[in-house]
Amino acid sequence: MKITAIVPCYNEQEALPYFYDEATKVLSGMDVEYELLFVNDGSKDGTLSKLKELAGKDEHVKYISFSRNFGKEAAMYAGFCNAKGDYVAVMDADLQDPPSLLPEMVKILKTGEYDSVATRRETRKGEPPIRSFFARKFYKIINKISDADVVDGARDFRLMKREMVDAIVSMSEYNRFSKGIFGWIGFRTYWLPFENIERVAGTTKWNFWGLFKYALDGIINFSNAPLSIASLFGIMMTFVSFILMIFVFVRRLVFGDPVAGWASLVCIIVFIGGMQLFCLGIIGQYISKIYMETKNRPHYIAAETNVEDAKMLY
Ligand code: UDP
Ligand code: MG
Repeated sequence: MKITAIVPCYNEQEALPYFYDEATKVLSGMDVEYELLFVNDGSKDGTLSKLKELAGKDEHVKYISFSRNFGKEAAMYAGFCNAKGDYVAVMDADLQDPPSLLPEMVKILKTGEYDSVATRRETRKGEPPIRSFFARKFYKIINKISDADVVDGARDFRLMKREMVDAIVSMSEYNRFSKGIFGWIGFRTYWLPFENIERVAGTTKWNFWGLFKYALDGIINFSNAPLSIASLFGIMMTFVSFILMIFVFVRRLVFGDPVAGWASLVCIIVFIGGMQLFCLGIIGQYISKIYMETKNRPHYIAAETNVEDAKMLY
């Protein structure tokens, strides 16, 4: 049996040595075959040379290096496409996904009762409160309006059986939201809680705006609810306008035709104009996704690798 650990890395030269030491310590003590599949996501620092150095002294180290930064989702996809293991795990390079959980995860999979073991942090300790607040709201909303169950606090760190990996690879959509994809494909998942850990070195790649866009993408990729909201607005407005029409008509009959109501008219025009633009924006979001999907571009382009018959673009 072989385990593949997929490790997306973007500017992780400080964290990499720690990760390598820790992961090697755990995996070599487990009496299984393993490979560490690092995906260098167009890092601008010395990540690639670190990876080559590690690969030179340890044959368990495999790497795929992208031609530019394609994002963590693309890096994970490249990992899934090129993983040779029977069990495949995705882990961050910053040790926020502790390798020490792997033995327990393997044990749970080996019982045959589950197809994957996913991790969930129990607390959001060490995170800015505002980020936690919006994160909670996001999970609430997305679970209400889509069929991908996304668990609050779920990390991308999970160990999966081959069947699941094949299912993920077969979902070749361009706009990827892995948390949703993992939930959407189903299978039996065991949730393993653990204490949140701060990254060992280097800095986080996320800022608030980035997370906000990520959340919106998640919703748009897995739900049509925003479109329904737009139609609902339309129906409501039509209904209100009927009532207004009757009101205006009756007033005309009773009071004649005094010119008045400029202020209310402007309010109505502005309000409806705003609503229309808002709905158009929602439709635009979906169209832009369709546009990207129909172009059929590869998810990633790799420039260098030491993986045998690697898929260099896919
Ligand atoms: N990452 C990546 N490409 C990117 C951004 C991040 O491959 O464009 C990797 C990064 O190297 C790390 C993982 O994704 O291994 C998680 O990133 P980070 O620790 O910055 O996110 P956080 O843990 O703060 O959510
Ligand atoms: Mg991290």
